[in-house]
Amino acid sequence: VWENCLSFIKDNIQEQAYKTWFEPIQSVDLTDNALSIQVPSKFFYEWLEEHYVKLLKVALTKELGPNAKLLYKIKMENSYNNKLPFTHQIPSNDRQAVKPQEVDVPIVQKDPELKNPFIIPGIRNINIDSQLNSNYSFDNFLEGDSNRLARSAGMAVANKPGGTSFNPLLIFGGVGLGKTHLAHAIGVEIKEKHPEKTVLYISAEIFTQQYIESVKKNTRNDFIHFYQLIDVLIIDDVQFLSGKSGTQDVFFHIFNHLHQNGKQVILTSDKAPVDMQDIEQRLLSRFKWGLSAELHQPDYETRISILKNILYRDGVEMPEEIIEYVAKNIKSNVRELEGAIISLIAQSSFNKKEVTIELAKQVVEKFVKNIKREISVDYIQKIISDYFQLDIETLQSKTRKRDVVQARQLAMFFAKKYTKNSLASIGSQIGNRDHATVLHACKTVDNLVSTDKQFRKFVDDLNKKLSQ
Ligand code: ADP
Ligand code: MG
Repeated sequence: VWENCLSFIKDNIQEQAYKTWFEPIQSVDLTDNALSIQVPSKFFYEWLEEHYVKLLKVALTKELGPNAKLLYKIKMENSYNNKLPFTHQIPSNDRQAVKPQEVDVPIVQKDPELKNPFIIPGIRNINIDSQLNSNYSFDNFLEGDSNRLARSAGMAVANKPGGTSFNPLLIFGGVGLGKTHLAHAIGVEIKEKHPEKTVLYISAEIFTQQYIESVKKNTRNDFIHFYQLIDVLIIDDVQFLSGKSGTQDVFFHIFNHLHQNGKQVILTSDKAPVDMQDIEQRLLSRFKWGLSAELHQPDYETRISILKNILYRDGVEMPEEIIEYVAKNIKSNVRELEGAIISLIAQSSFNKKEVTIELAKQVVEKFVKNIKREISVDYIQKIISDYFQLDIETLQSKTRKRDVVQARQLAMFFAKKYTKNSLASIGSQIGNRDHATVLHACKTVDNLVSTDKQFRKFVDDLNKKLSQ
């Protein structure tokens, strides 16, 4: 049966393609109308599914009738993929899930000959899974003043990876402002425009886990070697590396190698390089080599278009008034903005009725609370030091100067109010003080608020800033 299929296929595609993609296939089993074929790798299987699935279907149907089924067995998995704890990151609606009903669960066999766990010997162009989420594209990353610089820098990098002065490109900004989305979009676009490039998206956390694993297993060199083969390396949330000097060290070497060879590095972080703590100076200085682009909080118009885009995508209509209400009240976090509108969509379709402003209020309130919970002690210190025009070191220092003391006490007061951290943990993050100092600060602020008008204004202003 397979022979017949092959000769049909051979007549219908170019010889080179036939040689590359069909000669290596072996048929292994035929039961009823299900033919099993063995392919050399997962990548191979994906390629077949992407490019030749129609042809295969026609060929099989001719041989086995309309209920023909094709099962794939994967002979030797690219061992990199099955070693690393990656799969959980891939969203189920990504292209990985091609026709699951027709595909046998891949049988992954490790090649015992393969000594190096990360690369396939003799192959320069490694086929790795990029870990990119194609739902995060440039198309649905709506543009506004808040992200224009970062977005267009990302586009430039996608057009010419490694060929712009934006290397590394560092995208930074607060939670839920689109760093991960933009990082994926750049990768997805590069894959599209430069399919020959090896792109890898990885969070700094998984990178760290892999590194630690490689040290345990004595494969540190392989780890480094693997990363040095990548053309476009995207590392998300590099602030996670803070305090992890071993991982920073290895990343430094990988970074230098890639950079020297004209490879593109893209990083995201929740802080600007100047504000990153416990990251080695030599790494920070590398981060500043290229471009640091900030994602700001989106303005009202952008928030409206983000909401409308979701409604449009889901084919749902909602009164203008409701959209405006949501956009007016959720300002500082696109994830929460999306969450609120999705929750409203769900409730309206569940109750089969129009969303009322009352319902919108309830939902929005819930999401605004979420945002408050995400404020960190670091963030509070930044807001306070900006407000009083001090730098964070001064705020945390031992100085007893009255204005600094007040700012410091306010930082402690707001940290207690807006975060779930213990007094001890707040103290340790604000210049290494103990819990009694934090408690004292909170009482002092309470007192001053009721006695000092100027001070009350500080507190009101800061409250506004922090609850935005
Ligand atoms: P971060 O990594 O900065 O915490 P994410 O990239 O996870 O934020 O973004 C949070 C959510 O907001 C995602 O669902 C993302 O698609 C969405 N989002 C952020 N910015 C935009 C934008 N400009 N246009 C459309 N969606 C956006
Ligand atoms: Mg993120």
